[in-house]
Amino acid sequence: MPHIGFIGLGNMGGPMAANLAKSGEPVRGFDLVAALREAAAATGVAITDNARDCVENADVVITMLPAGEHVLAVWEDIVPAAKQGALLIDCSTIDVASARAAHKLAAGRGIATLDAPVSGGVGGAKAATLTFMVGGSQHAFARGKPVLEKMGKRVVHCGEAGNGQVAKICNNMVLGASMIAVSEAFVLGEKLGLSHQALFDVVSSSSGQCWALTSYCPVPGPVPTSPANSGYKPGFAAALMLKDLNLARAAASSVHVEAAIGTHAADIYQQFCETGSSGADFSGIVNFVRARSAG
Ligand code: NAD
Repeated sequence: MPHIGFIGLGNMGGPMAANLAKSGEPVRGFDLVAALREAAAATGVAITDNARDCVENADVVITMLPAGEHVLAVWEDIVPAAKQGALLIDCSTIDVASARAAHKLAAGRGIATLDAPVSGGVGGAKAATLTFMVGGSQHAFARGKPVLEKMGKRVVHCGEAGNGQVAKICNNMVLGASMIAVSEAFVLGEKLGLSHQALFDVVSSSSGQCWALTSYCPVPGPVPTSPANSGYKPGFAAALMLKDLNLARAAASSVHVEAAIGTHAADIYQQFCETGSSGADFSGIVNFVRARSAG
């Protein structure tokens, strides 16, 4: 049974580490925040005093941190403490350049690595139904897959180091743009006298059909489980969507791709967040579109 170290026990990492512990894996964990360490301890995670202790003798180490700078700082700290033959997996959503730099950092010491960002949000983390998008060697993927499967229902190998992050930002660029498009359609329909349900019934079985409409409908009613029915409580917060769209924007610019719609979606989410809505679910963008359409 592999010994697992888990660093970053926040909204996502806390329940992910808990699921590993629940499945019988010996898990040691660390977070900077004392309250999160205590919450993780209550789920069966053995808490260490710092990140390096968490890594000592671990076969697999997982990091789930806010951004690229945190991942690089933590990996610089823990890589020298990792045992030979250990596998390091970063599940955070970070920029592609930092992900590739993290792989390189560990490769220099003969440590295997994967980038494995997730989709599925806090609900998926709790229910162990996350999708993992994984970059790294075939060998490292084969080793990491059984561990990731304890926290998710789909584990997809996307190719070389950093490609998990590439897949993640491409997916969320589509999602951000399609949520705005669906929201604009609802507001346009409203203004022209079309009911939400009628628009949903037509588009969900026509060529405009997409996940933002059929699984995460931004207006209350047609999809009872969508955050629109519970006051736009996240779900997936607008601030996180903005983060991912900005990562996509930076990645597109780095390889001279003209992602006009993705870039515009980032601008719109930026303005939405500036109205004090960064903590709301990202589908609340429909209210922003409606407010801007007054008159
Ligand atoms: P979070 O802020 O709740 O958790 C991050 C944790 O990392 C915090 O508890 C923080 O204290 C800890 N941390 C930071 N620096 C540290 C260090 N040096 N040592 C130890 N711990 C440290 O964020 P989250 O919502 O859990 O998201 C984590 C990652 O997952 C992010 O990259 C995010 O973009 C991504 N993500 C989040 C969601 C979501 O719905 N929340 C969905 C998909 C992906």
